[in-house]
Amino acid sequence: MAVPPLPEYLDTTDADIIIQSSDLVNFRLHRLILSSSSQFFRAMFSLPQPPNDIVDGLPVLPVSEDAEIVRALITVLYPIPSEIPVAYDRVLFLLAASQKYDMPAVQFSIRAEVSHRKLAARTGQEAFRAYAIASRNRLSSETSTAARATLNYPLTFESLGSELQNFEGWALRDLVNFRKLRRDDVISCFESFLDVRAGPSKIWVGCPNGSTVEPGSRGKPISTPQPAADLSEPSLPPWLNRLFQSQMRELGWGFTGAIMEPSNIRTEYLAALQTHTTGNSVQGGGCEFCLRVHVRQGEEYCVKLERSLAHAQDKASTTSHLLFEGLLMSEHTPSAGVRTCGGHAGQSLVNMIQQVLSSCEPNSTYQSRYRRLAELTLYSGS
Ligand SMILES: [Zn+2]
Repeated sequence: MAVPPLPEYLDTTDADIIIQSSDLVNFRLHRLILSSSSQFFRAMFSLPQPPNDIVDGLPVLPVSEDAEIVRALITVLYPIPSEIPVAYDRVLFLLAASQKYDMPAVQFSIRAEVSHRKLAARTGQEAFRAYAIASRNRLSSETSTAARATLNYPLTFESLGSELQNFEGWALRDLVNFRKLRRDDVISCFESFLDVRAGPSKIWVGCPNGSTVEPGSRGKPISTPQPAADLSEPSLPPWLNRLFQSQMRELGWGFTGAIMEPSNIRTEYLAALQTHTTGNSVQGGGCEFCLRVHVRQGEEYCVKLERSLAHAQDKASTTSHLLFEGLLMSEHTPSAGVRTCGGHAGQSLVNMIQQVLSSCEPNSTYQSRYRRLAELTLYSGS
């Protein structure tokens, strides 16, 4: 469907420039409006203009964005209701355009609208696509968000599909590093729940089965007397031990696997508990101790478990840091990096660079690149 050039309530009869989208739709606009929101257009209009095509007496300025993106950008620029695209990948293209044209206020408005409407990648494929677009366009905040969104999906050729060709090499490498870090954090989280001496799992000490029952030998009757040495050692009930161990085993296979959504652990917990507490002791079930603990404190325990897992996955992404490295190692100028991570990153950005500088090997290529970037950042921040 063709995109109508402009909202009908926007009067541009006194327009003085035509912006032409990549699909050849002409938008009659005002230089003053473009200049007031965009450093890019302000600089461009201050220079002598090359001979343009003329339509209806107005110079035509072709841009690489399509009509939907240009129109959306205009609705944010002018005092009219904004028309932010519904599809998240299109929103990312809109943000990329506002970044390209150096429109920080416009970008802020778009992000506010995205947050208000809770626009995000909804499927694995969307998450990987969002990551590819955001990283390619140096949208650091969206790159981090998308990287987090990919965690609950496997990173395989099948899941990446045709998106793979849109990934820049460094972006894929960063995503792999990010997933490894988050996986290790989730494994540490499960490890902390295996500990019965401190932390949330101590409530389970006292199950007559103890964890002396090895995984796979659930048929052992709970009436079997425990050796005295085992009783002195506090241990996790076997069903909970098995649950955490199996999660850790799965995560340990590699970074390509999906990390479980924190909210799904409850279902696994309840299923494991059920096999342990229902039936009779001969079948390895019927544990009244664990049932009582669950009734009294199970809900609170599940909430703690979910929160810890979510925390492990939501930890501040190091992607923006990695994004930086990617920029430094790539053909892009360091100043593009400063713009990407600039704005509210402010002082923390300078701190981060200085921290990295101090950890670099003296006189290394990295150190000289970071030093140059630090200079540029300080310069641009002044
Ligand atoms: Zn038990």
